[in-house]
Amino acid sequence: MAIKFYNTLSKKIEEFIPLETGKVKIYMCGPTVYDYFHIGNARSFVMIDIIRRYFIYKGYDVKFVMNLTDIDDKIINKAISEGVSAAEIARKYSQAFFEDIEKLKIKPADVYPKATENINNIIELIQKLMDKGIAYQIGGDIFYDITKFPEYGKLSGKKLEDLISGARVDVNELKRNPADFALWKAAKPDEPYWESPWGKGRPGWHIECSVMSMKNLGETFDIHAGGNDLIFPHHENEIAQSEAATGKPFARYWIHFGFLNIDNQKMSKSLGNFFTAREILEKFSAEALRLLYAQTIYSAPLNFSLELLQNSENAIKRLKNSIHQVETAIQLENQEEFNTSRFYSEFEEAMDDNFNTPQAMAVIFDFVKEVNSFIAKYNGLTANNKEKILKFFEKVAQDVLGIIDLHQYKKFDDKLIDNLMKIIIDIRNQMRQEKRFDIADAIRNQLKKLNIELEDKKGITTYKINK
Ligand SMILES: [Zn+2]
Repeated sequence: MAIKFYNTLSKKIEEFIPLETGKVKIYMCGPTVYDYFHIGNARSFVMIDIIRRYFIYKGYDVKFVMNLTDIDDKIINKAISEGVSAAEIARKYSQAFFEDIEKLKIKPADVYPKATENINNIIELIQKLMDKGIAYQIGGDIFYDITKFPEYGKLSGKKLEDLISGARVDVNELKRNPADFALWKAAKPDEPYWESPWGKGRPGWHIECSVMSMKNLGETFDIHAGGNDLIFPHHENEIAQSEAATGKPFARYWIHFGFLNIDNQKMSKSLGNFFTAREILEKFSAEALRLLYAQTIYSAPLNFSLELLQNSENAIKRLKNSIHQVETAIQLENQEEFNTSRFYSEFEEAMDDNFNTPQAMAVIFDFVKEVNSFIAKYNGLTANNKEKILKFFEKVAQDVLGIIDLHQYKKFDDKLIDNLMKIIIDIRNQMRQEKRFDIADAIRNQLKKLNIELEDKKGITTYKINK
């Protein structure tokens, strides 16, 4: 089955057909690194992670690029208020960004380009727009003339004539049209700057993304993603800059993530209901947060509350308990085969249908219920069924949704077993010293029934688990 999803550009649910068979190239607008990111940003980061992992699940070779905006007004303002350099702010919060996405169990991007490392490419693209007569200079600033790109507004649905006749809200009265936007900004005193053909300055935000996406993925690529709030003007401007410069289509599919509200209110620092991902992850697991996000379709508004997050935490516990039951089930020789194929097809049906993660979650919890009653019915599992069930958890709940980490449990279990074995061996040695060989032998024989073999050599006892 093909993947279908809503394309903001065509405003339709469309079947995904990659530019190159078997490959998907995705660009996602990354953070402006001036603060810790909040749980609304985290939602977009997690949802694009799930979408990316699903493409991998379907056998696609995915190239995923996410930029870091490391020069911007917000960074400069923060640097001034903290009395440090803008570069220092960017360094601090870039590092925090990487720490937090790791905690969120997000698969690292293939490339994390930074604006400040692409200044030459940015200047080149602006020059190209200047040469074509699409961009114009006022003092040390360069602006994009939106009337030179007749398709301006095609993503957001805004009308060019409305934007041209719109009220002048901008301070720069010299601009040709009110909605013309800056490609290059002349440096103000004490601001960081780079040399350019137009004097000292720094890039505008929109041009950075055009440059970093096309440089890493080609002039035309498959999917561009970002938060809903970026559709206008950021993404509209990216299209205008890129397509006017290359004469080719830019991103073919656009995915946008919905807003996050807290207890049905807008999240804001002034309302006191503002959470960074970092502080939430101090009290709750990444798996619970990911589950909460995935329970709402990516494009819809998501209502967040600590109570809902606690419910997700409980659901994750049920999931872990079920996996534990499977792992520790008594081994049976014969049993009817557990049918996982129905669950795979239901899961894929849900995900192929506009990445319907709430439905995919329902399939997983349906699977959990079925597995639990199957084990209860037979009081155990055959090795084959156990493997099949764990495979489903691994491929779906772990590799796509990232709501469990089987390797982590395995590590934990191995360590636990090791510690328990040390205790048992110590007790047995104690018994042997006290010449209570009946107990020492009983321990050895009981362990043997669990396929654990003890070996006494030169006064040291070791164990071996025969699988
Ligand atoms: Zn962007």
